Amino acid sequence: MIFLRILGIILMAFGLFLSFVIPVAGIIGLILGLLCVIRSSPKLADRINLSLSKKAAKSRQQAETLKMELEDKLKKHEEFERQVSAIKSEAVVTRTEGNRQRMEAAGLSMYIWSTCGDERVCEACKIMDDKLCLWADPTVYSRNKGKEWIPRPTGASLEHPGEKDGCRCTSLAYEPELLGEL
Ligand SMILES: [Zn+2]
Repeated sequence: MIFLRILGIILMAFGLFLSFVIPVAGIIGLILGLLCVIRSSPKLADRINLSLSKKAAKSRQQAETLKMELEDKLKKHEEFERQVSAIKSEAVVTRTEGNRQRMEAAGLSMYIWSTCGDERVCEACKIMDDKLCLWADPTVYSRNKGKEWIPRPTGASLEHPGEKDGCRCTSLAYEPELLGEL
């Protein structure tokens, strides 16, 4: 051990001297010398190991903090998305409710179910497309201009248009009723 330390000190001294003449060789000598001194002293080596593991622990901790921050941000983002979709479906329900109130205020008790007609329309709505419905009962429809109200077909929506999450359907006034021809 003592031999290694002496060798290290000699190397370092030699490296220091050499660095004035040949910088690269000098620096290599210095580093080699330093390594010898470190290896020769178990305590010093331990201390270096300790500080390295402290650094590792610190960066682990930093990574952990970063992960938590990211998770927090993700959670906030998801909460935001959730709120946006809640507001959106709220708006649809409000629109449906608005339609119903306007129609009923105008004395209209029926409506025609109208889908967007594209491929995103769900099966439950597709079944109801163009059917004559009753505001007072979302489970029925009529095939004879409102004379008789029968249960909606199996698989059909049992709500008014736009009430279900993501439903873009709307209600149209039934023309004969609108014109007072019934
Ligand atoms: Zn729909």
